[in-house]
Amino acid sequence: MAAELLTNPFEKTPEQAEAERLAGIEAGRLLFAAQCDFFFATQRLDQLPPSGLPEVAFAGRSNVGKSSLVNALTGRKTLARVSAQPGRTKQLNFFNLGGRLTLVDMPGYGYAVATKEVKEDWQGLMFTYLRGRTTLSRVILLMDARIEVKENDLAAIATLDRAAVLYRIVLTKADAVKKSDLERKQAEITALARKHPAALSDILTTSSDTGMGIAELRADLAALAKSA
Ligand code: GDP
Repeated sequence: MAAELLTNPFEKTPEQAEAERLAGIEAGRLLFAAQCDFFFATQRLDQLPPSGLPEVAFAGRSNVGKSSLVNALTGRKTLARVSAQPGRTKQLNFFNLGGRLTLVDMPGYGYAVATKEVKEDWQGLMFTYLRGRTTLSRVILLMDARIEVKENDLAAIATLDRAAVLYRIVLTKADAVKKSDLERKQAEITALARKHPAALSDILTTSSDTGMGIAELRADLAALAKSA
């Protein structure tokens, strides 16, 4: 067979792939350089703001580093309050990012002393919101790179699968683990993501402390935003 027939005309050259990656990073930088304003909080799903912009929700166990990550993404110190009392906020907080994307900070789940009622409340709230929100484009499911996957993470994954919302698993606190442990964790979580149809197969690894992976996550989210 002639050599040219073996070449896939749609395959990118490494140069094209790199140019695309850099364009994505720049789009992410621009999006997150815009103003980010808190505009709505609710504990009740009959009180959601009218849906408009594409929406991205951040979910994860209490203490996973969600507030720190949202603050690192937006480059602000006080956007999402870094939790002094884990497991306390049981509300959905909505932020408008530059008139192009809505960021939703979901209540953290799985706080050890949370009562059964609070736990069930979380699953119910999450599922109803996930299922009913037509503008929800993506969930970012955070997992702590230092901690093994817990039962309530698997329950959250099951809820996301059931709601059929596309989600990406993002590791947090990567700075706090040794390189070899991080590589093992990445392999484990990639394998987990690949087993779940609603999960995107590529995970991202971040650290709010060092900035690792923040530009890549911004780029990932910029692809979902309303065009500028
Ligand atoms: P949330 O409850 O998920 O909102 O988590 P927070 O953002 O409040 O963070 C929980 C704890 O983890 C705090 O003590 C943070 O300082 C710590 N933390 C958050 N992000 C990082 C990170 O990237 N690296 C390290 N080493 N610690 C982090």
